[in-house]
Amino acid sequence: MNKTLDYHVHSKWSLDSVLNVDEAIRFAENMWVNEIAFTEHLDFGFPEKESAIINIPEYIDDLKIHQTTTNIKILKGIEVGITESNLRESQRIISNFDFDFVIASVHANDIVPFCSTKAKLYYGDRLLETYLKHVLYVVKNFDNFNTLGHLDYLLRYQNFSISDLMSFKTLVDEILGTLIYKNKAIEINTKGYTEDNFRDFKPVLERFCLLGGKWITFGSDAHKSASIVHYFSETKTIINELGILDFAKYSDDRWSLLNY
Ligand SMILES: [Zn+2]
Ligand SMILES: [Zn+2]
Repeated sequence: MNKTLDYHVHSKWSLDSVLNVDEAIRFAENMWVNEIAFTEHLDFGFPEKESAIINIPEYIDDLKIHQTTTNIKILKGIEVGITESNLRESQRIISNFDFDFVIASVHANDIVPFCSTKAKLYYGDRLLETYLKHVLYVVKNFDNFNTLGHLDYLLRYQNFSISDLMSFKTLVDEILGTLIYKNKAIEINTKGYTEDNFRDFKPVLERFCLLGGKWITFGSDAHKSASIVHYFSETKTIINELGILDFAKYSDDRWSLLNY
């Protein structure tokens, strides 16, 4: 039987989401989801935001309580946005708590949020390269994570194409190679996918597999219940064309492959 694992969901424990954990779980139950990772934002010093830090002990307790109400396996996760100045502190916080799943993401560096017009103005033609260099810095220097979130983040916000991204072949290879070397996964992030707006992630996955990568996770990056497992089956069909039939499941501190 096919399984559905959504390893990237934001509830109201994230400052930019109003989704109740309960509502998310009920929706996921209706969608026959087997596992759901709540991955709330931990973005120390996110530029122009006071902070995006949740009350972690309360959050973990909340998920523990909800686990008793459902058969869906709930992973107590976090999405950590790494900058050069917060890396150490982020690492420390993550080590202090018993998270089941950690996404390492790049939303900003110490100067600008990469999604902003300010970033475009500041870096101009060097924006995508700067972003990728920062991702490389993160995967090389940060260890406490399981999967790399939305490598195609700038395709979502800055109108770049997958060919633009893949044109930085050496950087992309270094990022993917580091993930593989560290036994980390890469995420297919389906946020905003539609038939007309499908960020083709295939070239990245193709390269990842060619370099020996095994672990690929799915994340909807949902901030509302209707987005949970959004566009997963369509995306799987497209990914299957590459010969990738198995996706990564994380359990008890280890990866396994599942045909889901
Ligand atoms: Zn993110
Ligand atoms: Zn997210």
